[in-house]
Amino acid sequence: RFIVFEGVEGCGKTSQMQLCAEWLQSLGISVVLTREPGGTELGLDLRRLLLQKAEDKPIAEVTELLLYAADRAQHVAQELKPKLAQGKYILCDRYVDSTIAYQGYGRNLDMNLIHQLNDIATGGLTSDITIWLDVDVEVGLARKRGDNVGLDRIEQETIAFHRRVQQGYADLAASSPKRIIRVDGQLSKETVHKTIQEILSVHLKQ
Ligand code: C5P
Ligand code: MG
Repeated sequence: RFIVFEGVEGCGKTSQMQLCAEWLQSLGISVVLTREPGGTELGLDLRRLLLQKAEDKPIAEVTELLLYAADRAQHVAQELKPKLAQGKYILCDRYVDSTIAYQGYGRNLDMNLIHQLNDIATGGLTSDITIWLDVDVEVGLARKRGDNVGLDRIEQETIAFHRRVQQGYADLAASSPKRIIRVDGQLSKETVHKTIQEILSVHLKQ
């Protein structure tokens, strides 16, 4: 089973994935937690390059797209496919929809090119279900600033950029309602977790 978590900055993916992993493990299920970018050794190097502040080392938009695709290709080949073949449950922080939302909607790069690169990078591997944690852009950014983790490249973007990304997720959820399930990420941590439990309980039986 391949379960992906998506959403804008500060939507709560990381803590919800942790709660979800603990819950699945309590049911005796073997879980792998991973993320993009950065789910492999090579991917960690790419993540560092991608997230450094823009003024330190500029990255052209197409280059950025290709680096995310490279990270994904390595992740699929080295981590996702082998672990799925072992029958593991994978919880993955971001996947193809992030590229559509950030590079497609956010940066307005050509959507056909993005789909082609996603196809090449994934070799056709799609999520069984994608949970979209929907939070208002300002709420998410405020949460992240509150965490005081320091702003990286993307968090320096304008609010308009983040709103376009958010619109991307909304459009994706509307056009793929079976694969992408929206969860209100502004409810309490416990309520969000319960909602995710209910969704997965239904979907994992099928
Ligand atoms: O939230 P997370 O730590 O997974 O994301 C790392 C950063 O990479 C975020 O700032 C996110 O916006 C950015 N990103 C991106 N395009 C992608 C994937 C992630 O801009 N395709
Ligand atoms: Mg996170």
